[in-house]
Amino acid sequence: MARIVMKFGGTSVADLDRIRNVARRVQKETALGNQVCVFVSAMAGTTDQLVGWVEQMSPLHDAREYDTVVSAGEQITSGLLAIALQDIGVPARSWLAWQIPFKTNKVHSAARIEDIGVDEIIQRMDDGIVCVMAGFQGISDDNRITTLGRGGTDTSAVALAAAIGAERCDIYTDVEGVYTSDPRIVPQARKLDKITYEEMLEMASLGAKVLQTRSVAMAMNHKVRVQVLSSFTDKPGTMVVDEDEIVEKQVVSGIAYAKDEAQVILVGVKNKPGIASNVFSLLADGNINVDMIIQNETEDGKKTDITFTVPENDLDKAEKILNSAGNIEFDNLITDPNVVKISVIGVGMRSHAGVAATMFKTLADKGINIQVISTSEIKISVLIEADYAELAVRALHTAYGLDSE
Ligand code: ASP
Ligand code: MG
Repeated sequence: MARIVMKFGGTSVADLDRIRNVARRVQKETALGNQVCVFVSAMAGTTDQLVGWVEQMSPLHDAREYDTVVSAGEQITSGLLAIALQDIGVPARSWLAWQIPFKTNKVHSAARIEDIGVDEIIQRMDDGIVCVMAGFQGISDDNRITTLGRGGTDTSAVALAAAIGAERCDIYTDVEGVYTSDPRIVPQARKLDKITYEEMLEMASLGAKVLQTRSVAMAMNHKVRVQVLSSFTDKPGTMVVDEDEIVEKQVVSGIAYAKDEAQVILVGVKNKPGIASNVFSLLADGNINVDMIIQNETEDGKKTDITFTVPENDLDKAEKILNSAGNIEFDNLITDPNVVKISVIGVGMRSHAGVAATMFKTLADKGINIQVISTSEIKISVLIEADYAELAVRALHTAYGLDSE
């Protein structure tokens, strides 16, 4: 008998019929003889509405009260699913995070899980009860409700799967799995049968919305087998697994894009030690996450240009910080929000030459100019003009042989 953790996202529990559908899926899993613990998100749209109310009530609200409000959606769906399960004869009970408890730190709205009390859950699962859990929430040492960041139910589910040694953590959503690229812009995108944790981590942090990034990191650290699949079809999904489980490694497994980037160029910065440190310390103090960075020297070596990207939402703030900084001299500050970051990702890159060359040639053939490049062991990212995003993603998808027949 295996322990399985199932997680259903907002679209899967969007109304009462869909919650009944979820109950039937859970019933199928128990009929296979498995012990099941289910996590639910709030009904689609609910959390957005709750966030909106908090912001309208007061833009500078108490973060602890924000969590009290926005965690409420999951309380409703957990109770409703337990009722739906009982109605079809499946013994079930709901739990809120504080009842487990799901202990987190005090970073409200982005709390990290520190400890999970698993004894009661394991006992109830052994007794044949389906444990239905409100995702996304936790409780701090101060006895206050916390939330784990938007999309946090993925992390709740993976964390419990790790803590109880579950055989699998199935993440049910409204797509059939993880695709080679966003099917809305690449009609030839294919569903992947398997993807490695590392690739999934890159995809999630680069804009593929299917799993919360933190949940993937947690799955990787604890070797939790995660499956992403649809709650609306009966097709197998995508397994997120360790690299050794993938025999035929793709050189490139996916193409991701992120539109919420902005470019900043500091022109004519004095070329002396400590300048880059000043620039990026100031931005870090302002809580601005810098992503891609390049620095070029001018011909005489006296001045340098520093180009980097920040989240588009933080662009104004970054400009203000840099313009009012006393310890950085520069000639000019140029910003551009109309950029997009395109990334090709694949563990096979480690052992294959020419992956970058293919990317640059493909973009050049389409007349697309590359503004910034950054690489890691398993990914190459470029920054290009936003207007070319779709063209670039499609061309790269074809160039790396990812198109479905
Ligand atoms: N309901 C929360 C959100 O919309 C958490 C989740 O769905 O995972 O972000
Ligand atoms: Mg989600």
